[in-house]
Formats: sequence, structure tokens, C-alpha cells
Amino acid sequence: PSAPADWADLIRDVPDFPKPGVVFKDITPLLASPAGFAAVVDELVARAPERIDVVVGMEARGFIFGAPVALRLGAAFVPIRKAGKLPAEVITASYDLEYGTETLAVHADAVRPGARVLIVDDVLATGGTVGATAELVRRLGAELVAVTVVLELDFLHGREKLAARGIDQLTALR
Ligand code: IMP
Repeated sequence: PSAPADWADLIRDVPDFPKPGVVFKDITPLLASPAGFAAVVDELVARAPERIDVVVGMEARGFIFGAPVALRLGAAFVPIRKAGKLPAEVITASYDLEYGTETLAVHADAVRPGARVLIVDDVLATGGTVGATAELVRRLGAELVAVTVVLELDFLHGREKLAARGIDQLTALR
């Protein structure tokens, strides 16, 4: 089957998920298209800065896009996980959700100080996930060079919230 002209047409809107009034951007049809998935990875790779040492991806959909980008760049891949999942020593960062908080973790020895890091995730919504991840990268002593997301939900103003925290190297493919 041929891919649509634009891979973004393979991202499906699912209304009222995970709760009434929210329109969820579902990337699974994109992943199910080998041509579409290849095209989005190509675009992520094309937008990557020079000399990236480490691609950091967040559980769970950041793994799907971050890992192939890391391989293509010849960079390491480092997973950021929800607290309690990583087996060795970790550092953690928490951020507020609408109800409650989320805590992200990374292995304390995952990134060497000074490494040039690219953060990759699927969707930028409020920016909480990217903000906590950027904080972890910085606390590891690494250099956050860029953040690339497949899709930005502009109406949630994540970009502005991140910029206010000094995270202004953000690229969204769409
Ligand atoms: P944020 O922390 O509010 O920016 O939310 C971003 C995180 O939630 C990302 O890791 C996304 O995977 C996930 N997310 C939020 N909204 C959506 C969506 O509409 N589709 C897919 N993932 C989403």
C-alpha cells in the first residue's frame, strides 16, 4: 500500500481520550505504515544538530522515535522512565499533572558530563515531560543541544513554558 503524501495524515485524532473533551493524537497508524514511519524518522534525523552524542527518549513513545534516530546518528540511546522502572542508581525529577504529579528517572551514569544531547518525543503538550527531562539532562552535566518532537499542540503553550525555563532549542516537525 502506498503512503499518503504527508506522513502527518497518518496521525489520527481520537476524541474524548483519555477523558471527555480531550482530542488524543494517535500515532499508531503512522507506526503501522513502514513508509510513513521511515519518512518521519528521516525528517527527525534531517533536523538533528551536528555531533549529537546521546539521544534521550521518554517512556513510552519517545522510545519509538528516539531509538531509530539514535541509530541513524551513530549516537547512544538513553531511556527516561517513569520512577521505579530502572534497575540501577537513578536521579529523578517531578512535575505537576492536572491531578497529582509524575516522576521521571534516568540512570545516574547514563550520560557522561559534557555529552551533546538531543531529546526526542512524540507529542509536546503542556511541556511538563520535556521540562523534567531537560532538568535531568542538565543535572547529569550534559549539554542539552536540542529538543525535537513530532507534533506540537500549540494551544497548550508548552513552548512558551519551556522557554521561560531556558529551554528554547525546540523543533516540532508539525
Ligand atoms: P506534556 O508533558 O503535557 O507536554 O505531555 C507530553 C507527553 O504526554 C508526551 O510524552 C506524550 O507522549 C504524551 N501526550 C500528551 N498528549 C498526547 C497526545 O495527544 N497524543 C500522544 N501523546 C500525548
